[in-house]
Amino acid sequence: MTRRVSVFGATGSVGTRMLDLIATRPHDFRVVALTADRNVEKLAELARKHQPECVVLADPERLPELRDALADCDVEIAGGAAALVEAAARPADFITAAIVGTAGLASTLEAAKQGGTLALANKESLVIAGDLLMETAAHHGTNILPADSEHNAVFQILAQIERAHVEKVVLTASGGPFYGRPTHELAAVSPREAAAHPNWSMGAKISIDSATLMNKGLELIEAKHLFGLEAARLDALIHPQSVVHALVHCRDGSVLAQQSNPDMRIPLAHCLAWPDRMESGVAPLDLAAIGTLTFAEADRDRFPCLALAEAAMQAGGVAPVALNAANEAAVAAFLAGEIGFLSIASVAEAGLNHALAHPMAAFDAVEDILAYDGEIRALCAEFIGAPQTALSS
Ligand code: NAD
Ligand code: MG
Repeated sequence: MTRRVSVFGATGSVGTRMLDLIATRPHDFRVVALTADRNVEKLAELARKHQPECVVLADPERLPELRDALADCDVEIAGGAAALVEAAARPADFITAAIVGTAGLASTLEAAKQGGTLALANKESLVIAGDLLMETAAHHGTNILPADSEHNAVFQILAQIERAHVEKVVLTASGGPFYGRPTHELAAVSPREAAAHPNWSMGAKISIDSATLMNKGLELIEAKHLFGLEAARLDALIHPQSVVHALVHCRDGSVLAQQSNPDMRIPLAHCLAWPDRMESGVAPLDLAAIGTLTFAEADRDRFPCLALAEAAMQAGGVAPVALNAANEAAVAAFLAGEIGFLSIASVAEAGLNHALAHPMAAFDAVEDILAYDGEIRALCAEFIGAPQTALSS
């Protein structure tokens, strides 16, 4: 039976890889909706190749260009935030949520109402609306499958054991491009250096998050919601080779791990074929060639973003929303050359501190989450604009 599939964030690192996998089985899938922010050229190219029913450009400014580019194609074309949510409501059996950041929340939540399968890469949705997203999916009978490699690894391991036997879940982190470097050397690193991940090829935002270790912090919060685990049962471990993606410690002392080459096609193929499996195109894992796998404690003093995310996870309520909004603002400012690498943590801390000083229960409406997210971004813009020596580094 042909499955109807949609990809949100189709032009990105995750989106294009998922579409490549979908294209390996043209008779099994019918592409419904493809979306992008403003990359008209790539979205038009994908539309020609995958022949979706509709394409959506989140930023309506470039919509006329998209219409021109696809003038001879039989495809519905729309633009803007509301169109994104409408596309997520189009009947589909399998939806990939691969928009980056808070911008993905509304469409991801809508996709969770379909009752099919939701391959979730957009981790920020879980960080800022974890309870709401998990409850929405449960209420509508939607299966959320983790596309994030570490969570996909945990998902695969937990399928093998009784939940009552789980003592602790550990997500590995490569440590990013700066793990061995002394802090004082990081003040002047460029966005290009920070985005040069040693093992994974990813979008700009997650690459910077990996260099600060904020990515691992966000992933702990993501895991808390996906697997219903208390913060105390979650930990991060540095593993520079990115071969072991997650470990599950059982009460009897056994530790189960999932391993693979660091290539997103593996977790994405797992989601697409689940509960079956399919070829991912990734070379077999050659442990003899790799030779050595190493592990180390994650250093929270040198990478404070991990500790900030853990504090947000423990505080709960709106704290993760504030942390995430502040981090998105900080990463955008860093990529734009407005702040130094070390200031990302200062901005994230300012956002988190605001939430900790004004604690509130988690919101249960998207509008409230987005309004609060905007409030924190405005606060961070002021903070970034203020003449502070710490931020000029
Ligand atoms: P990317 O930057 O390569 O792609 C992002 C996609 O989102 C693009 O299609 C872009 O057009 C779209 N987009 C950006 N801003 C938007 C907006 N305001 N409104 C609508 N669409 C918008 O990012 P990526 O690396 O593919 O990551 C996507 C998500 O997957 C992130 O949440 C990331 O944390 C997660 N993830 C990525 C990887 C990876 O290997 N790249 C691994 C695990 C999880
Ligand atoms: Mg990950």
